[in-house]
Amino acid sequence: SSDRVFNFAAGPATLPENVLRRAQSELYNWRGSGMSVMEMSHRGKEFLSIIQKAESDLRTLLEIPTEYSVLFLQGGATTQFAAVPLNICKSDDAVDHIVTGSWSDKAFKEAQKYCKPNVIWSGKSEKYTKIPSFDDLKQNPEARFLHICANETIHGVEFKNYPTPKNQNGILVADMSSNFCSKPVDVSKFGLIYAGAQKNVGPSGVTIVIVRNDLIGNAQGLTPVMLDYKIHAENNSLYNTPPCYGIYMCGLVFEDLLEQGGLVEVEKKNRKKAEILYQAIDESNGFFRCPVEKSVRSFMNVPFTLEKSELEGEFIKEAAKENMVQLKGHRSVGGMRASIYNAMPLAGVEKLVAFMKDFQAKHA
Ligand code: PMP
Repeated sequence: SSDRVFNFAAGPATLPENVLRRAQSELYNWRGSGMSVMEMSHRGKEFLSIIQKAESDLRTLLEIPTEYSVLFLQGGATTQFAAVPLNICKSDDAVDHIVTGSWSDKAFKEAQKYCKPNVIWSGKSEKYTKIPSFDDLKQNPEARFLHICANETIHGVEFKNYPTPKNQNGILVADMSSNFCSKPVDVSKFGLIYAGAQKNVGPSGVTIVIVRNDLIGNAQGLTPVMLDYKIHAENNSLYNTPPCYGIYMCGLVFEDLLEQGGLVEVEKKNRKKAEILYQAIDESNGFFRCPVEKSVRSFMNVPFTLEKSELEGEFIKEAAKENMVQLKGHRSVGGMRASIYNAMPLAGVEKLVAFMKDFQAKHA
């Protein structure tokens, strides 16, 4: 509605208007319980129904096979950079990392404390604008897992399909924080998927881990109890007090995604939004530029620069005057970035594209 901006932030990010309104209507008195979700015991029947519905809707959305556990945790995806190696490998296990941007680099660096990671491909020298061809990867046949970041939030590169670990017993692990639930994913290809909620599916404070059950229960001895998947799996994510309100919000988003027709429909919408934005960039005769190789451009985070870089500040300021906010690129790369997650309506992207054309007409 007109009192809201189009928020292109990378996360925390825009949420669906109908979800916010529903949460508003249930805030004071959740479904006749006489209390808000924030005030409920996490062990009471009301909250149990909320977390169980959230899990079951997520299972439906992603068609998660029964041999996988779904965990609702805290600590952000950053905590998973440590939890993953602590849970699924020994301290002297070799593991492979593909480094396609800042986030996969951070995952690699944290893993160094808990196992023996090796970067088998890095896009750093090409400023993180590419995804490697899988045939060229020099995977260690002994690697316990292969770690990827499915979508690099800062650099805007996205895996369009996934590599297979060379080790027959190897595990594909993906950080899906910034494209989680943006399209269908064959979960069975992965041993483990993790994602912070605050981009596509809810507020910050909830981290979702989808992990194959046979990978649970072998954590390294020094693993803190809060990072041990076994503890959380055995207690249905209720070992300690979970982020109740955040889980409730994720649940409302999952319901909304199902009502939209599930992830096949959601992907169509995301593709359309991304296409019109990249098209506007590519057809600007170089006025706008996106450095990312075309075949791996992210549908979620669209980084772009201006040929006349001195105009970038004005672009961001003028856009904000028209209620399009948070278009500044990450401080490490500069330029602009439009994050167009599930909840960004087509109208928001259309408005941005129209603004870009006007801006170019004024300044070309
Ligand atoms: N991985 C990716 C791909 C991200 O985009 C982010 C957050 N921007 C993180 C990890 C870190 O997430 P958190 O802040 O939830 O720890």
